[in-house]
Amino acid sequence: MYFVANWKMFGNLKSLNTLDKVIKFSKSKEIKKGRLIYCPPYTLISSFYKKFKNCLIDLGAQNCHESDAYGSYTGFINSKMLKNIGANYVIIGHSENRKKGENDKLINLKIKSAIKAKLKVIFCIGETLSEKNKGKTKLILSKQIRLGLNKVQKKSNIFIAYEPIWSIGTGKILKNRDLDQIIKFIKYKFKGKLPKILYGGSVNTQNINDLKKISSLDGFLIGGASQNAKKFIDIVKKTYS
Ligand code: PEP
Repeated sequence: MYFVANWKMFGNLKSLNTLDKVIKFSKSKEIKKGRLIYCPPYTLISSFYKKFKNCLIDLGAQNCHESDAYGSYTGFINSKMLKNIGANYVIIGHSENRKKGENDKLINLKIKSAIKAKLKVIFCIGETLSEKNKGKTKLILSKQIRLGLNKVQKKSNIFIAYEPIWSIGTGKILKNRDLDQIIKFIKYKFKGKLPKILYGGSVNTQNINDLKKISSLDGFLIGGASQNAKKFIDIVKKTYS
């Protein structure tokens, strides 16, 4: 199981101390088969890389520019630069970035450039509350998958993170049965070559006890709760208890 920590726009140099607990946990037997991946803000990737150098915790970024070349794009960072500083993953298509104007076409370009740089992509898809209420969830997910992965060759490096937008940071979460159906629907879209599927949206130390029962899932993308080392560790421990 993969446990991806999305720190969003949180964290500073002081936060590095909080990682000691997680590093210790990652070296213990308690981690079982859990794979930890931290996605801090860009400013902390290099520091995290140094911190994690003697352990198996992996590293990712939260976005990248769509260009695979260096260039005059003030304020942006491309996938090559991320690979160069030790990131192996990148989150693309997060709803917080879609809300800021990233469309499926741009997301598709970003995914292609990340794959070219040999990054693994955590590709976020999910519907709004109003789309859910209109019964459009499957339609929206199909469109996001079709356009986001248009002409993407190396699908083996794609992780799909199903993140219902209405569930992110709200504490609201689908019933297991409904979530399982959606995960199976996403898998069905890939016919044969199945990507790893993560769930994201208000995962916490309580609801993990139910979520872990969904056998179709390969892991979790965790926002708020991942910024607290104890909560993040508890989520992993409870998944295997
Ligand atoms: C996220 O933003 O990717 C996320 C899952 O956030 P949270 O866990 O806080 O809902």
